[in-house]
Amino acid sequence: MKPRNQSFFVYILLMVAIAVMLFYSARQTTTTEVGLTINQLAADIQAGKVSRVVVDENKLRAIYADGEKQTQKEPEATLVEQLINLGVTPAELQSTIIEVKAPGAWVNVLSILGVILPVILFAGFIWIIFRQAQGSNNAAMSFGKSRARMFSGDQPTVTFADVAGVEEAKEELQEVVEFLKEPQKFITLGARIPKGVLLVGPPGTGKTLMAKAVSGEAGVPFFSISGSEFVEMFVGVGASRVRDLFEQAKRHSPCIVFVDEIDAVGRHRGAGLGGSHDEREQTLNQMLVEMDGFDTDTNVIIMAATNRPDILDPALLRPGRFDRRVVLDRPDVRGREAILRVHVKGKPLAPDIDLSVLAKSTPGFVGADLENMVNEGAILAARRNKKVVGQLELEEAIERVIAGPERKSRLITSDEKRVVAYHEAGHAILMTAMPESNPVQKITIVPRGMYGGFTRGLPAEDLTLVSRKKLMAEMVGLLGGRVAEELVFDDVTSGASNDIERVTQLARNMVTRLGMSDLGPMVFGQKEEMIFLGREISEQRDYSEAVAEKIDQEVRKLVDSAYKTAKELMTTYRSQLDATAQRLLEVETMSREEFEKIFPPPTSKRSGTPLLS
Ligand code: ADP
Ligand code: MG
Ligand code: ZN
Repeated sequence: MKPRNQSFFVYILLMVAIAVMLFYSARQTTTTEVGLTINQLAADIQAGKVSRVVVDENKLRAIYADGEKQTQKEPEATLVEQLINLGVTPAELQSTIIEVKAPGAWVNVLSILGVILPVILFAGFIWIIFRQAQGSNNAAMSFGKSRARMFSGDQPTVTFADVAGVEEAKEELQEVVEFLKEPQKFITLGARIPKGVLLVGPPGTGKTLMAKAVSGEAGVPFFSISGSEFVEMFVGVGASRVRDLFEQAKRHSPCIVFVDEIDAVGRHRGAGLGGSHDEREQTLNQMLVEMDGFDTDTNVIIMAATNRPDILDPALLRPGRFDRRVVLDRPDVRGREAILRVHVKGKPLAPDIDLSVLAKSTPGFVGADLENMVNEGAILAARRNKKVVGQLELEEAIERVIAGPERKSRLITSDEKRVVAYHEAGHAILMTAMPESNPVQKITIVPRGMYGGFTRGLPAEDLTLVSRKKLMAEMVGLLGGRVAEELVFDDVTSGASNDIERVTQLARNMVTRLGMSDLGPMVFGQKEEMIFLGREISEQRDYSEAVAEKIDQEVRKLVDSAYKTAKELMTTYRSQLDATAQRLLEVETMSREEFEKIFPPPTSKRSGTPLLS
């Protein structure tokens, strides 16, 4: 019963109660006026003054020759009895007509109502109270129900065609789609099907969209719930919601369960102070239990999205749970153009529109920004009473999106972009020029968190031993960014601070820990692990001031030598540096193949620990 109905009913009951009270009080007031006493009436009858008496219940109307008077009789006895008691003889009564009126039907109804109404009222109140108690009971029950929204897979609203610029992610998810479509194919081969897929990426890169697209492609139902909906301050509810969600999912299998913003529940357990995180921990534990409890033939795939994979509980990420990780990065130029193409579909465009130009002028934009931008462009065109959206409107829209309050990601100027391109190209060139360092796998100038871009080296094989030459090569590679900036712009930027920090650390370790300097095979300084509110390492100095000075000199010697090599190599390969930077400015991201077309590795390369600079 809806609360509105309930209060309506209470109103009616109240009105009836008031009516009944009025009725009773009205009955009382009608009985108060008395114009004549019973004794007087008896005396008048004896005197023969009264021609007629009308008895209406207890009311008496005495008709005299000169008019009529009213009075009451005692309710228990009849009028005749009372008159006789007062000394009126039957003979004297003969001269007076006594007329007794039957009680009216209306009076009957009222008196019956007077009995029944209180009963009805009472029953009504009891009923309402009962309903209310039951109602709150129901609400408490539905609290533990999952709030998941189900989207049917029959009419896909979103497919892979709607998600652009994330081709690698699509390829990885294609497997999930195939499994959902034809689970039998995999099961007969005894393959363990992925249970959990974690979508990782900055806000607005299309994680939610991608999850929907997977269900749309596979044509299966899609349950969506956000992590924060699990966690509401109501003890035990999160866990029971998880249970309920998985119950539902099993009934609709094959299907996808999508937990958006999973970091709300999936944080490291025990990370908080006090007991306030108990609820979240229970919820997380329940989720782990449910994921483990799935049989291999329960075709339910759990997808989750987060932009903070670093804070997730490791238990969530181990095999058999969210063991697939699909990264959705900020799109590069080509990606942005593809996303724009998706969003201008269905909008009337001016023929002069050049999406590649728009893509080039929106570095750092994610899918959500681009969608917003196209929308702003359409709004501008509408306000200018145009029939189509023109290049001008879209370019203005870029500024609107950048200036808009919601945009938190980095905005890069074209100057900055040039510096970043040379910096990253510098890393790549030196990593390739040094025969001992890892081959370059990917170069990008798409900003990521704190970094303007990065260059990633690929370890071709795992090495447990790292040689001195290799460490030197690593230092040279790390200095590549700074050296390229110096060479090209005759100035340096703060962009190399992380590289420099790592070079220094590496050199110091070579001297003090690995015995790779002229100081000989000795360890300097005692490392102590102190655990206090997390993990902290303190170093105990066990050498003299004079040795400390020598260590500093050795560290400096190593760094200087790496720097010298870096500078020489960079001058040698200056033309390749320019070409790489130029290409990066155009495409923003380069794969190993693309890069090696510009700069084929001079010598055969060996491998080691991964490089990220
Ligand atoms: P996230 O969940 O990663 O924060 P969403 O999936 O909610 O981001 O994306 C918000 C909107 O941005 C989407 O509805 C879509 O219109 C647009 N969008 C984001 N990424 C893409 C993409 N790769 N291709 C097309 N549109 C995208
Ligand atoms: Mg989202
Ligand atoms: Zn760098």
